[in-house]
Amino acid sequence: MVSYTKKFICPNCCEKDFTKVHNFSVEFRSVNFSDDILSEKKSSMGYICKSCGEMYTAEFITQYLEDIIIKYKNDEWGAE
Ligand SMILES: [Zn+2]
Repeated sequence: MVSYTKKFICPNCCEKDFTKVHNFSVEFRSVNFSDDILSEKKSSMGYICKSCGEMYTAEFITQYLEDIIIKYKNDEWGAE
């Protein structure tokens, strides 16, 4: 059996270590034909590159890893 690991690396600077961060906010929206303002509490999560500070969403990283799987299965890196 052969084991092979390919990591997500920051596309900006090639760092491979990230810190998980959470952001919390309130979004205010006006309502058509009314003086009411709607508010909605929101939170989001991301991963900050430990080297350059660029932030990536979990969806971005998941897609990146999916692309690695496709490339590997197409033997682009499998022959390394
Ligand atoms: Zn980076």
